[in-house]
Amino acid sequence: MIPGAVKNIGVLTSGGDAQGMNAALRAVVRAGLDRGARVFAIREGYEGLIRGGDQIHPLEWSDVGGILQAGGTAIGTARSAEFRTPQGRMVAVKHLVQNNIQALVVIGGDGSLTGADTLRAEWNDALAALVAQGELTPEQAASHPHLLIVGLVGSIDNDMWGTDTTIGADSALHRIVSAVDCISSTAASHQRAFVVEVMGRNSGYLALMSALATGADWVLIPESPPDVENWEAKMCEVLSSGRKAGRRDSIVIIAEGAVDRYGHRIAASYVRQVISDHLNEEVRLTILGHVQRGGAPSAYDRLMSTLVGVAAVEEVLKAGRDSTPQLIGMDANRVTKRPLMECVKKTREVNEAIAALDFDRALDLRGKAFQEDFQTLRTLVRASPHKPSEERRRLKIAVMNASAPAPGMNTAVRAAVRLGLDRGHTMLGVHHSFQGLIHDDMREFAWMDVDHWASRGGADLGTNRKAPVGKDFYAMARTIESKGIDALLVIGGWAGYSTVLQLVKERDNYPAFNLPIICLPASINNNLPGSEWAVGSDTALNNIVDAVNKIKQSAVASRRCFVVEVMGNTCGYLTLMSMIATGAERAYLPEEGVTLNDLHRDVDLLNEGFAHGKRLGVMVRGEKAHPLYTTQFMADLFEAEGGELYEVRMSVLGHLQQGGDPSPFDRILATKFSLRCIGWLEEQALAGEAGAACVGIEGDATRISDLADALRDYDVKNQRPKKQWWMGLRDTANMLAKPGPGNQRQA
Ligand code: ADP
Repeated sequence: MIPGAVKNIGVLTSGGDAQGMNAALRAVVRAGLDRGARVFAIREGYEGLIRGGDQIHPLEWSDVGGILQAGGTAIGTARSAEFRTPQGRMVAVKHLVQNNIQALVVIGGDGSLTGADTLRAEWNDALAALVAQGELTPEQAASHPHLLIVGLVGSIDNDMWGTDTTIGADSALHRIVSAVDCISSTAASHQRAFVVEVMGRNSGYLALMSALATGADWVLIPESPPDVENWEAKMCEVLSSGRKAGRRDSIVIIAEGAVDRYGHRIAASYVRQVISDHLNEEVRLTILGHVQRGGAPSAYDRLMSTLVGVAAVEEVLKAGRDSTPQLIGMDANRVTKRPLMECVKKTREVNEAIAALDFDRALDLRGKAFQEDFQTLRTLVRASPHKPSEERRRLKIAVMNASAPAPGMNTAVRAAVRLGLDRGHTMLGVHHSFQGLIHDDMREFAWMDVDHWASRGGADLGTNRKAPVGKDFYAMARTIESKGIDALLVIGGWAGYSTVLQLVKERDNYPAFNLPIICLPASINNNLPGSEWAVGSDTALNNIVDAVNKIKQSAVASRRCFVVEVMGNTCGYLTLMSMIATGAERAYLPEEGVTLNDLHRDVDLLNEGFAHGKRLGVMVRGEKAHPLYTTQFMADLFEAEGGELYEVRMSVLGHLQQGGDPSPFDRILATKFSLRCIGWLEEQALAGEAGAACVGIEGDATRISDLADALRDYDVKNQRPKKQWWMGLRDTANMLAKPGPGNQRQA
């Protein structure tokens, strides 16, 4: 059946636990079973491999039910000193052969992955020795000539070279960001400074990203120590000028492995003392510690871990006999694979570079995006902008929101305003979307006006969906002229994009519209042209996942099926992604519609399941999945057809999906997009160009596309891209949700 003849796959979680390991485990087990392999849990990491016996056992479909939403790892993890010895690993080889396991999916950090590679490298020698000792028969050895290895990175630190994200990093950011948001509000009340220590022995990812996401004032990371001799004075100067400029709180985020230029560790307590002495006030220290590892995985971690888990199985099943071990990771929005040991080697090089005080190399190895983010942070944390350069023309850039509010709009405005001001431009905030242009309703932003906007949900500039008509264009043109606006940034959804297209069309009639305009995708629907991700949709997805968790818990004592209606307008992104992230059994998408046959089959599926002991069902329905088969209709249908077997409840999640503080993912995305937009607008305006563009993530990179080009791939009538990347996950979603052979499914 299988090229590499893999029939049995072992899976283990090792080293530090990370939220999302369970999602990966569930995906490995179900994808393996679906493809006809058997999947063996190896408990407690490499310890289980050495102990053997009941520590290695096959998992069935339902064994991984109900674990998707749980933090930690259901099969345990450990650090095994014995596995570090050749004798220990020889016992591991014996147990693998005795269980007839040909491939191993290892979910862990660089230590665990190195261990796996060593095991593979020693495989043949170990077999020979085991045969010589009579522990294995020559036939057993001959039938296991090699061990296939695939690695998934479980590490909240996000410190692995070769993948943009690791399992657990996004959830850890959730924990940090919500803690820092809380700290900010108490700090602001008392005008206090806080030092917050986050994890990351050799990695500043969590510190840097949480500082970006929360609008912290200073960050200390291992890869790039402060480049001045007396960094303490510089830091305090920034904090006190921030205070003078109106900030009521000061937050310093420090990675646990932060060092100075000479490689001496900077202790968080030292930073506290320095600030306390300098600002002459009480400074509080919060060490977040293991809180960062705990709690439920974020929506992104559930999704990403699921995708890499499925990809790991595919890799194992198609790998040839002598395949080099691969690491499955992510490049932006694409699952990738790279030679595992190259990734481990480059990861170690970062640590070595830090130890050798070669910080340029360390930053270089972290990659361009990390460096860019660090640079952006250094600008955003300033207490005031740089002095404008005399040579560069100063522009007037207008920023506005458009369409429905999306969490992260404020973050994008903040970043755009500060990055624009820092380049010497005047930044105008237009109120209430295009209405503000029509009625000349806007304000000039000063640096501190957007302080604290990084973490705030909603859209403080106001937004509006009303499309301009007739004389509105004249009014807008007049405002643009009278205000001397040189460039326009529109942060929003389809209503914004379509109005920009109208402005472009009207350029001949109104020359004022000949200015560079760029759209930044912000819509919980994630239905915009030129981008696979829109700001706000990750927050919405997290809101849905949290709500469904609660809904599920409400049903523990009864047999119940929920029909959950989610937003998304004519785009099924939120519907399908929430199906995968919550482990629901069905997703009704507007792209696919709903037929009577579908409903018939689903009634059968539910009745059959509940008749055989199933206790909970979740069906996710997109708000526009079908005009007549409404959520209420479906709930009524299931209720009537389910009879005594189960009760049905309907839950229309509604506006809670649009609300709340933006997730870390959305804040970071918004900031990155704003950086690109301001750069592009400046470039265009200074060159006298008047393009109309949109920014977005496409595949593995951030791109700026000409709006007209992006529109070619857009289904204007249905307001969604013609080809939606996530529809490619439909089969995976169905596979994970279907009942396992001989089992009633559980999420
Ligand atoms: P992480 O995988 O999170 O980096 P560790 O470095 O503690 O965590 O590794 C977890 C386990 O992997 C160790 O306890 C050990 O059993 C195994 N391991 C780590 N490094 C090696 C190595 N160089 N050789 C063999 N096994 C190793």
